[in-house]
Formats: sequence, C-alpha cells, structure tokens
Amino acid sequence: APPSASPLLAHLNPEQLAAVTLPRGHALILAGAGSGKTRVLTTRIAWLLQNGYATPGGILAVTFTNKAAKEMVTRLSAMLPIQVRGMWIGTFHGLCNRLLRAHHKTAGLPQSFQILDTQDQLSAIKRLCKQFNVDEERFPPKQLAYFIAGCKEEGMRPGDVPAHDADSRKKVEIYQLYEEQCQREGVVDFGELMLRSYELLRDNDAVRAHYQRRFAHILVDEFQDTNRLQYLWLKQMAGDVVDGRLHTYGSVMAVGDDDQSIYAFRGARVGNMADFVREFAVEQQIKLEQNYRSYSNILDSANALISHNSRRLGKNLRTNQGPGEPVRVYEAPTDLAEAQWMVDEIKQLVRNDGHARREIAVLYRSNAQSRVIESALFNASVPYRVYGGLRFFERAEIKHALAYLRLLENPHDDTSFLRVVNFPPRGIGARTLEVLQDAARQAGCSLHDAVSAVPGKAGANLGGFVAMVDVLREQTQGQNLRSIIEQMLHASGLVEHYRAEKEGADRIENLEELVNAAESFVTQEGFGRDAVALPIDEHGAPLTQSPASQGLDPNAPLLDAPLPGPAGIVDADTGETLSPLAAFLTHAALEAGDNQAQAGEDAVQLMTVHASKGLEFDCVFIGGMEEGLFPHDNAASDRDGLEEERRLMYVAITRARQRLYLSHSQTRLLHGQTRYNVRSRFFDELPEGALKWLTPRQGGFGSFAPDSGAARGYPAKAAGGFGFKPETFASPPVPPQKAAPSHGLRVGLAVFHTKFGEGKVLAIEGTGDDARAQVNFPRHGTKWLALSVAKLTVVE
Ligand code: ATP
Ligand code: MG
Repeated sequence: APPSASPLLAHLNPEQLAAVTLPRGHALILAGAGSGKTRVLTTRIAWLLQNGYATPGGILAVTFTNKAAKEMVTRLSAMLPIQVRGMWIGTFHGLCNRLLRAHHKTAGLPQSFQILDTQDQLSAIKRLCKQFNVDEERFPPKQLAYFIAGCKEEGMRPGDVPAHDADSRKKVEIYQLYEEQCQREGVVDFGELMLRSYELLRDNDAVRAHYQRRFAHILVDEFQDTNRLQYLWLKQMAGDVVDGRLHTYGSVMAVGDDDQSIYAFRGARVGNMADFVREFAVEQQIKLEQNYRSYSNILDSANALISHNSRRLGKNLRTNQGPGEPVRVYEAPTDLAEAQWMVDEIKQLVRNDGHARREIAVLYRSNAQSRVIESALFNASVPYRVYGGLRFFERAEIKHALAYLRLLENPHDDTSFLRVVNFPPRGIGARTLEVLQDAARQAGCSLHDAVSAVPGKAGANLGGFVAMVDVLREQTQGQNLRSIIEQMLHASGLVEHYRAEKEGADRIENLEELVNAAESFVTQEGFGRDAVALPIDEHGAPLTQSPASQGLDPNAPLLDAPLPGPAGIVDADTGETLSPLAAFLTHAALEAGDNQAQAGEDAVQLMTVHASKGLEFDCVFIGGMEEGLFPHDNAASDRDGLEEERRLMYVAITRARQRLYLSHSQTRLLHGQTRYNVRSRFFDELPEGALKWLTPRQGGFGSFAPDSGAARGYPAKAAGGFGFKPETFASPPVPPQKAAPSHGLRVGLAVFHTKFGEGKVLAIEGTGDDARAQVNFPRHGTKWLALSVAKLTVVE
C-alpha cells in the first residue's frame, strides 16, 4: 500500500509526508511558524514505531519545554498502543538529568544529586563571595552567575577559560571555587547538567557507544535555539569523529525556523543549522511553506514584519485560509486602561464568540508587565494562569519546604541548610552562621558536620536544628512521600509559623498543594512500579540493545526494549532507583514551569513572548507595543538586537489562529517610574490592509524621524491626553501647548539625559507637573519624558 494509506498520514501535505516518511539519514526541516514542524516530528515518531522502524526505547526526542514533551507523549499514546513512559522525550535538561542519574558514578555525582535553580545558584555564589571576601561591587554575584553559565554553555571548565588580566583571573578562580562547592554539596546547576552529561558521553566510550547504538532516531524540535554545547551533545549522541569525519549510527532529524531564534542572549546559535548540514553531511532538506495555523491577515502581518530583517535563510509561508478578522490595534492612555480594554475584549470573546478562556493568551515582552493585567483580570473575576512568572515551586514557602526535604535527602546540602537553619526563626543569627561557615571551611566539611564546633548558646541552637532534621530523617525512613512531607511540615515548624502570620493562609494552602503535587507525581510517574534497570554485562557495563529492538523488521514487536524506570531514574550499573523523595525533588527543580496548582481550570493564559514559543491560541493579545519596551531598550540600539526583537515579535504574532490584538499605551508605570512611550516601530512594518485601528492612527515612530519636522501627527496625540475617553475620539485635536518657560525647553533643542544620553526635543506638551517632552535619542529611540521626573539638561 502507498505510505499515505495509513490514517496516521492522511492529513499531511506532500512535503510533510515526505518529511515524515524519510528513509534513514540525517535531515533538516526548515520552515516558518505554524507550518507543522512539530506535527511532522511527532507523526514521524509514530510512523517509525508503527512500522517497526524503531522501538520506543530507540527514540530520542528533544523538545523545548516540559509542556511540549508531555504533549508529544500524550499525542503518541493516543495514536499508538505503546508504553510511552520509557521513551526519551524531553528537554535537554530533562534528558541530561536522566542520563546523569543513570550513570551518576561515572559522572562523579551522588545518585540523589540536587538541582540548583537560578535563584539557588545565585545564593550559592553570594555565599561563596562572602566566604572568600570577594568584592561584590567589583564582581556582582549576578554577573558571576552569568559568567559561569556562559563558560559552561561554551563547554569550558575553569582551566579552559582564557584569562589575561587580574579581573578575569579572579572570575575564573571564583568559577573554580564555585565548582568545588557544588561538588562538595552534591548539587548541580542547569548549565552543569548539560556540561556534565556532555563530558560523560565524551569521556566514556562504553556509555557513549551504548547510547549511540540505542538511539536509532534522534529528533530535535526548535533546533534554531540550541546553543553550542547542546549541539556538541547531540553530536556525541549521534556518532564519533574519525579522521575528521563524523560517523553516525542513528539518524538525526532537526526541525527549526531561523526567524524564530530568540535565545541568542542565552547563547543560542543559528549557526548550528549550517554546522549541522555540513558536519552531518545532511542530504535531506525539506521546506514546509503551508501555514495551517493562522488566517491570512495574521500571517501577512508576520511575513511583512519579518521581511524587515536582513539576515534570513529565506522561506515563504502561505495559507489557504481566508483573511479572517483584521488585526485590531488599540492605543490606551495608560497601562491600566490598556489592561481594562484587554479584559473587556476577553469577556466579549468568551461571552459572544464562545471562545474557551484557555484559547486566549495575553503575551508581553517583559514579566513586569503582567502585574497590571493580572489585577485587571482578577478584579473582573476572569480566571487566568501565569506561565513562568513566580512558579509554584519557586514560591518562598515552597522553597523553604523543599529545602527541608533536601536536607532529609542529603544533610550536606549547605544551600538548603542556610535557607532554613533560621527559618522559622530559631535565634540563629548571621554572626553565628559566619562562625559556623568558618569552622566548616577549616575542617573541610559541610555545615551539618561543623555544628559541634560552635560554642555556647548559639551552638546549642544550631545543634537543636540539626538534631531535629536528623531525627526526622530517621523517623521517615521508608515512608511514603505524602507522610514524609506532612511530618516535615509540622516538625520544621513551617505550618505553625505561617499560621501565626497575618497573610499566611495562602502560604499554608500552597504547602498543602505541595502534598498534592507529590501525590500526583507518585501516581503519574508510577513510582515504585515497573522500574526496570538497563541491561548490564558481567563487568557492569551497559549492554547495547538487541538487534531486533533496533527495529528494521516491520513485524518486530514494539515492546521488547527494556525501559528505564520512572523518569529514567535508574542506576545503569546497579539498577538502583532513586528514592521517591529524591525523584520528587528533581521533578520540582526541573518542572518548575508547569504550574500544576490550577492546571485543569479554563483560564486565560498569560506569559512572556519567550515562553509562548511553539504554542498556539485562538486569540492572542500582545500588549505594551511601545518603543523601549518592544523593541526593548536593551536591544534597540544595535542591529543584531533589533533583529532579535523583530523575531520575537514574529513569534508573538504567529501564535494566533483567529484573532490578534495589538496594543500600546501612552504612559506606563514600570519599575516604579512613569514612562512616556511612543508606539512601537513595529506597527509601521505591518501591512496597513490587515490592520484595523480601534483608536485613530497617529504619527508614531516613523513620522518622528529627527528631520521630518517636529510635530507632524502630534496634535492628535495631544487630544488623547490623560483624560482620554473613547467617546472623545471625535473631538477636534487640541494644538500642543507652547513650551512652559519654567523648564526652559523648546522644540529643536539638543538635550542630555543621564540614561539615554544626548537627544533632540521633538515636541513638548502640558505645563507644570504634567509637562512632558518627546525626545529622539539616537541610541535609544524616541521617548516621551515627564519633565518633572526626567531631569533633562540643555546641551550648549
Ligand atoms: P511553530 O513554528 O510555531 O512551532 P510548527 O511549525 O511547529 O509551528 P505545528 O504546531 O506543528 O507548527 O502546526 C501548527 C498547526 O497546524 C497545528 O494546529 C497543527 O495541528 C496544524 N497542522 C499542521 N499540519 C497540518 C495539516 N497537514 N493539516 C491540517 N492541520 C495541520
Ligand atoms: Mg513547533
């Protein structure tokens, strides 16, 4: 039968079909947003399995988020009657975690190593800086964290980092100390997960050979956002370089869109695509040009916008769907009004048009924007859910509870020790902790082991804390997760502490939610059931899979491959599994993004544009479309930065299936400051015919080019003003006021601003405290500034 006879393949277009059914060999699918890349990837896995070309154990699939991985697994299990739990589908971090757990001894880690999130990492670095008297003015801990992460992303250990001056030598020294501290405490940060498992593969022929032969098919989604190290990791998984040529075992399929590369600031390299094609000698390159997601007004907007970028690989995208609704554009006087408008529109979409709330997303460029939108939704009783804000596992009370749990698992985890040694307060002061840390350093031991070295009452308090945790560890030995957590919550005093707090009820609820999260983790992961070790030979080396499981025989049974246990947490050498507690703690660190507390509810989705990658919604709102915000201040000054902002906008637009709403506000309270912004230049890059202006279109970025005459299009702006109400649209524009003499500014003057540098006044509006000026700064774009706040000086 022709391949398309299978129902699996029924709805694919010819290019998609070709991609799904490619023969062995490496392939690159390069295609624009919504063209079915992710769908092709998932369908290919199903097709490989269904036809016996691979077994579940022979598939390695890398997705961008845990959510995407879960979705893929869910879809696969809906398509095929297979045991999917053992499949290696996950994020780079998730997969590396699995690898390191399985080979922890070889990797030099305790099996129950804990994962530091960004916040933990920063506090670990701060602690180190204190301990070694690092000047935090000169070496801010945040910058050190960034430096260390950057080194790891480049695959560099302290010894590999070039250091030519005293400052960089110091940084490298701190990197070294930080590594030693992590190793001593048995913790790894996100960068370390990646680097350590890369080194594991690189330095251990048996392990590498095992996985190279095991994974007959490696599939990578969102390939454009892989960094250097991730690429090298994939290369190790795929094969070895012999005589300058890469010899691979399995087939690698990479799927991506250069126009959606939005993580350059975190080391992502679009160049990986070119390297991949060259080094893997990729013969199959497939382009998908049909967009199935969006109506053409939305797609045209995305295409027009991205055409302003110069460095592109070049692809086309078309849709068969009609134009659909126009893209609606709204200008609000304030950020509050903008949020209120969104809420009103959302209510209509739900009430009149029958859209589910979960099919409506509000996207923003920076996290700080969400607060206003959240409170407008909250006041209107519209359920909503924030992705990636302060996530469940990152809340203070949850982090405290997790720190206690980590101490139960590993008493030498100093980060956790310091987090809770005096929380709830036990009369253990900063001075005592300094003494303790000194003692630990001198003895070369953990804080836990150094407690007896602290004399007096302080020492007794410390002893009390350590004894409490040690006793709890004894008591809860062998108990189930729920019971361990419940006992910990009481013994630690956390619950009592929050009960006494005025606003503690929420926190107690969250702590109870933690128990639920543990419970559902246990059921979902099937912990304690069907955990199977990888096969090993008599020397303890992992065995490669049987030829049948490599699966070229279409009649081969699918389920013959031994599956690793829940979440892959099985020691490859001994078959030892992680304790449920340690497994749960790993889950908490890695899956922090999945806010499970309200997972089932039909809620409007709030998230940053970065977090929205790969997702789609019926209706999308993009707020804060203002110069300085989107494109962001940090990026707009250089061309690379601006192009990345434009790709980000392209990602945002292409999330929408049916309706797209763009808005900007004349004023915005951000980081405690009122900003006066003009609307984003991106509006001028969208096709007028696809847009519908709900508020009058006014001169914006484009019309304020320094030499285009100061106030073109400006009077209409003044009409908006602060007392802006929709019904006043029709009123005639009020001419701008003459500059009040008090601030001594006039149009055309050159001025200096402490943050934005030199600029030229384009317009002035209002008097007294309300006076504001529009200034064009060559490096930062055009801004509205409140003259009572922004102290502008006239440049002579
Ligand atoms: P992004 O670049 O945003 O990640 P993508 O290229 O991965 O997008 P998908 O998410 O796979 O695109 O697909 C976009 C939408 O189009 C999905 O809803 C998908 O189910 C649908 N789709 C893809 N291919 C087809 C097809 N041949 N027929 C009908 N619908 C399709
Ligand atoms: Mg996708």
